Amino acid sequence: MFNTDFKNKEIIVRGERIGLGESKLIKIPVDRLPTGTLIEIPIYVFNGQELGPTILLQGGLHGDEINSIELVRRMLIDKSYKIHRGCVIVVPLLNIFGFLDFSREMHGKDVNRSFPGSRKGSLASRLAYYLMKEIIKNVDFAIDYHTGGAQRSNYAQIRYTPQDERGKLLSDIFNTPFKFGSKLIPKSFRNECFKNNIPVIVYEAGESLRLDEFAIQQGIYGTLRVLKHFKMIDSDVIIPENKKSIEIIKRSWLRAKAAGIFNAKIKNGSSVKKGEIIGFIMDTYGETKFPVKAPKDGYIITKNNFPVVNLGDPLFNIGS
Ligand SMILES: [Zn+2]
Repeated sequence: MFNTDFKNKEIIVRGERIGLGESKLIKIPVDRLPTGTLIEIPIYVFNGQELGPTILLQGGLHGDEINSIELVRRMLIDKSYKIHRGCVIVVPLLNIFGFLDFSREMHGKDVNRSFPGSRKGSLASRLAYYLMKEIIKNVDFAIDYHTGGAQRSNYAQIRYTPQDERGKLLSDIFNTPFKFGSKLIPKSFRNECFKNNIPVIVYEAGESLRLDEFAIQQGIYGTLRVLKHFKMIDSDVIIPENKKSIEIIKRSWLRAKAAGIFNAKIKNGSSVKKGEIIGFIMDTYGETKFPVKAPKDGYIITKNNFPVVNLGDPLFNIGS
């Protein structure tokens, strides 16, 4: 896999050429604020001495998913991850506007529903367009980092495209606690890359606007496993071992059967048994206390952390 037709002999981003053994920071101008301030997206290119695969590591496609930005930042500053073979292109924060607004979106639009984008479209659409035009043509595959939204925390998990055998293999190499095939969403980054024959695996961990050390570390370790697998970094970089990741076949939301204050009694990532009480929903006056029971055997792969729930609100996503 990815062992012929290497693209890193020369990487070209916005007319800048990066040859073997070269590194460069390239800033892609995307917009000007009403104040005249130019907004640029920094792209780091680390091209190794040897020919090899080219990988895109992408954080902050959703601007409020800070774990994704933080884990990319930590890898970026760690000098022990020098690239010897192949090339790594790093986008630490794609959606700068969402980051500043504490929002998933970019000026009210979801970049991850704006692909393939257009040169004259909305800001989100232009960003999607330039990402495909300037970056994706250079890469063999991408790791796209995300978190849960709306105060729902994902336990470290990889999502791959079921009909893409290479994405499945990459998720095996990444080896984070959970993995599963996930349908392509129209106009998403993963969908557009799939159309261009570029596998994308999506790492989902933690929740938006909250740092989660476990999520950050698992994201870094998984990425290092991939880089090491393709002999891109030193073989002596130490990566803690994980148990083999659990493949989830079915996922379903367990929803609130009553409104009230939700108190989870189980940790994210735990295994559960059918009928086990995994939380309670109480009214505010202490008159009722509904137990929340696991409807099947499985694993908690997403946990709602918002304490006030209405009837039908999602509480846990249970994978089996
Ligand atoms: Zn996201």
